[in-house]
Amino acid sequence: MTHSFDVLIAGAGPAGTTAAMGLEKSGLRVALLDKHTFPRDKICGDFVAIKGLRETFDLRPELKDHFAHYPKKVVNTSTHVYVDKYNPLRADWVTRSYTIKRIDLDNELLVQVKEAGKTEVFEGHGIKRIEQTAGGYNIESSKGLRFTAKVLIGADGAHSAVAKQLAGYKVDRKHYGGSVRAYFSGVENIDTAVNEVYMHKHVVPGYFWLFPVSENEANVGLGMHSMHITANKVDLKKLFHNFIESHPVLKKKLGNAQMEGKLEGFGLPFYSKRFTLSGEGMMLCGDAGSMIDPSTGEGILPAIHSGKIAARKAIEAFEKNDFSATFFKSYEDAVHEKFWPEMKRKAWLVNHFAHRYQFIKLGGYLCHHVPFIKRRLQKLM
Ligand SMILES: Cc1cc2nc3c(=O)[nH]c(=O)nc-3n(C[C@H](O)[C@H](O)[C@H](O)COP(=O)(O)OP(=O)(O)OC[C@H]3O[C@@H](n4cnc5c(N)ncnc54)[C@H](O)[C@@H]3O)c2cc1C
Repeated sequence: MTHSFDVLIAGAGPAGTTAAMGLEKSGLRVALLDKHTFPRDKICGDFVAIKGLRETFDLRPELKDHFAHYPKKVVNTSTHVYVDKYNPLRADWVTRSYTIKRIDLDNELLVQVKEAGKTEVFEGHGIKRIEQTAGGYNIESSKGLRFTAKVLIGADGAHSAVAKQLAGYKVDRKHYGGSVRAYFSGVENIDTAVNEVYMHKHVVPGYFWLFPVSENEANVGLGMHSMHITANKVDLKKLFHNFIESHPVLKKKLGNAQMEGKLEGFGLPFYSKRFTLSGEGMMLCGDAGSMIDPSTGEGILPAIHSGKIAARKAIEAFEKNDFSATFFKSYEDAVHEKFWPEMKRKAWLVNHFAHRYQFIKLGGYLCHHVPFIKRRLQKLM
């Protein structure tokens, strides 16, 4: 038996669920497939800018209140950046953000999609084979279910099957990062309003983070540019533990803490180049379209934005009955128009300064002592 839909969304992360919400009022038949069964974890720093979530609030105004009262989150108002082993640079440049474990955030968004009842959700079905036909796409899931869809939205993350099969994506280390992350309980001196970022010669180009997720638990991780990892044969897991051991502030905070579960790794496809994001009846959103900020590692916000734009473009395609690659190029253009100028600037900063620790240190001290420089840097970042 074949399940027929107008739009099939691959992946139920923030990009996929936002795309599904954006299609709810369209009257189109929409399927959302994910290879995992939810709640599922996603290796992440769990930091989500409220302005990112606001995009989903536009689609579902009741979500604003829902997340404002959502108990499994902490509200962050500030970031402390440690530019050397001892001196924290207080950079109050986080306006308002939440830290919500992705196992909770992504499940919460998917529950919203399910409750609206407009999208058919298939959990535990990974996209396996995609065949392009005259009328759209034939898709086969990992459990052997067959689907047809006129429009395919690839929101299936950093290892996207859609991007690989339809846009020829391969990991490009020049535009990629590696990272590891674990949760720690029993962390000392946690201030839930403050995220901590550690920059040091051993961890650049990249940074170590400690983001509180509750009164005594934190998301702790380390990310670094893949070119540096490969060239210097960096063992991220080893570096993670060594860095904690050698850093006086971290050692104090995490010395008696308990690592919950394993230290796990995952890739970060950076938006430091304009990747192909579309084709005939096809769009790539979020990590599947390599949309992670190369300077901060944030990808939830562009995932949500691009999911919303993809939904709008899918509706337009049906209205115009135009599923050509030329039409869907307007999706790619809209995403690049929104993000590329900022990402290009950030990629330039990363390429020129992220590996130069002395510059970072100097920048840190200048920011600390000269408010004007802090404001300028804040604007650039
Ligand atoms: C260590 C680390 C820390 C990070 N920290 C932050 C942070 O603090 N803040 C931030 O904004 N961003 C952060 N990011 C980036 C952020 O996690 C991603 O950008 C974000 O998850 C992208 O959302 P998405 O919906 O595009 O993809 P995902 O969240 O990866 O969702 C993709 C979904 O597709 C499913 N899937 C995969 N393959 C298939 C398939 N073949 N068929 C069907 N379904 C499939 C997966 O199960 C998954 O549910 C971090 C990333 C890493 C690796």
